[in-house]
Amino acid sequence: MSTITSTMLTARVVASRSAGVGLRSRATMISPSSPLLLRQKPAVSSALAMSIRSFHESPNKQTATLDNLTAPAVTPNSSTSPITKSSSISGGSKLASLATNPVSSTEYLKAFSSSEVFSYLMIGLCTLNKPILNLCIKLFPYVPMPLIKALVYKIYCGGETIEEVKKSGQRLVERGIDNMMISLTIEACNGNDNIDPAYIVDETVRSVKEILVPHTLRVIKESGKDINSIAPGYVALKPTGFAKDAANVLRYFKSDPKYAAEFESLVEKAAKVCGTIYDSNVKLAQEYPERVSPFVVAVIDAEKHELQEGVYELQRRLYAKFNKPEMPVSVVGTLQMYLSESSDLLALEERLAKENNYRLGLKLVRGAYIHSEAGRSTIIHKTKEDTDKNYNQGISYCIESILENQGNESTIGHLVVASHNAESLKLATERLYDDVAASGNANKNNVVLGQLLGMADNITYNLIKTYKVDNVIKYVPWGPPLETKEYLLRRLEENGDAVKNDNGFPLVKAALGELFKRVFRLA
Ligand SMILES: Cc1cc2nc3c(=O)[nH]c(=O)nc-3n(C[C@H](O)[C@H](O)[C@H](O)COP(=O)(O)OP(=O)(O)OC[C@H]3O[C@@H](n4cnc5c(N)ncnc54)[C@H](O)[C@@H]3O)c2cc1C
Repeated sequence: MSTITSTMLTARVVASRSAGVGLRSRATMISPSSPLLLRQKPAVSSALAMSIRSFHESPNKQTATLDNLTAPAVTPNSSTSPITKSSSISGGSKLASLATNPVSSTEYLKAFSSSEVFSYLMIGLCTLNKPILNLCIKLFPYVPMPLIKALVYKIYCGGETIEEVKKSGQRLVERGIDNMMISLTIEACNGNDNIDPAYIVDETVRSVKEILVPHTLRVIKESGKDINSIAPGYVALKPTGFAKDAANVLRYFKSDPKYAAEFESLVEKAAKVCGTIYDSNVKLAQEYPERVSPFVVAVIDAEKHELQEGVYELQRRLYAKFNKPEMPVSVVGTLQMYLSESSDLLALEERLAKENNYRLGLKLVRGAYIHSEAGRSTIIHKTKEDTDKNYNQGISYCIESILENQGNESTIGHLVVASHNAESLKLATERLYDDVAASGNANKNNVVLGQLLGMADNITYNLIKTYKVDNVIKYVPWGPPLETKEYLLRRLEENGDAVKNDNGFPLVKAALGELFKRVFRLA
């Protein structure tokens, strides 16, 4: 479903609601494949209406942080919908007072060491404006590794070894972030074929057993929090890491028998990690039967569009094997909502899951490859606004789907809202942490907000400290610094997209201010 169609659909849904017309017949006329049609409820349509309204009505979007966003307006005819009630922060909800009581914009830097604050200063300087950033991006491949390591590696990456990642996890806990999504980052998609898939599988399995499971158990035992409010630990799997010549395997697995066999081996390797995750969940659930969401989760990362057919097939095989009905999901797949086909894809995934009797776990991202996609003009939404709209509709739809149940009955069983966008995070947070949801749907813990380590740290901070949100995790890439260079480059490019958002000059000002304060205190 294109954004245009989806916008028309939302408009019609809202119109039909005001006119008192049944949603089913109207919606069916519009797009039979829409995911919305699988669940034609006023609550969903209101959610979509709210998400679109909040997008259009938010003031000064480019400088948005969770602090300065105002609540979406509530229209009189939407008062009967749960999403509307939950989104109404003008009615005295907890979010209303918190939104008008912003914490200092430099407060979040207090949790970092002086050398980390200095790294933020460097990142701020690199992202001061577009020309400077573009120059940094051009120069980046030539910057010597020791310099990258000294200046930015530690901000964006969790470490080189399992021991270092464990410490990074502990540091996140000190910042109020209970869990993380770890990713052994060995970029292999652009002809870098010095990877050893067997090594990646073994190291990833080891990272689940030695980092994720003990970390999650420690937080459960030591945090004193309700067991259902602790986010799961995630391991992100890059499909290109599970085969030699992975790009061709993912591209040609359907048409070339040689690659078909390789694809089966790739699936087997990913299944080995997912099997470890599944077994851990079964074991831990015996120890803590009161927990609704999974303890640990395997997440399949999305790649460039030309490889995605293979990735979707991989995800489906893993869902079918490990996401059993009536059980917490162990596997989460990724959908890139900047793709104009993404809404249809969500509908397709939900239909396949129903037909084949498995559950869906989804990580919704906007998409990281916009700068390198060859077919950008045909496959990606035409404007950032279209992507934003589509993303907000997607998360609203999945959240409603999950909140419809108290346990593990729904087809969509788990959602990671993977974004730094303040409006999207606010939309999800309002729905999950308002008075209605707080009155006890443990299933809300099946929605988790994720940001990349070193990105949007002020927003993560505000979610936790101001909004008292538990379900936040950080994506923590780890591995040899040389191998993470492509990942770091993408982060730099992404900082460019967010340059007006939470980086650039405000970051320089905040980092300098914090460093001055520390020097002054020491003097
Ligand atoms: C936990 C986590 C996991 C992630 N995993 C993946 C993954 O597996 N695969 C992946 O591809 N990405 C992944 N990403 C990155 C993600 O796709 C985004 O690139 C990144 O989060 C920036 O988008 P945002 O939602 O934070 O919002 P914003 O900063 O508000 O949006 C920036 C994004 O909007 C989109 N955009 C920008 N300009 C335009 C335009 N002119 N037209 C249309 N769209 C536009 C692009 O997707 C761009 O990245 C992940 C991010 C997180 C936080």
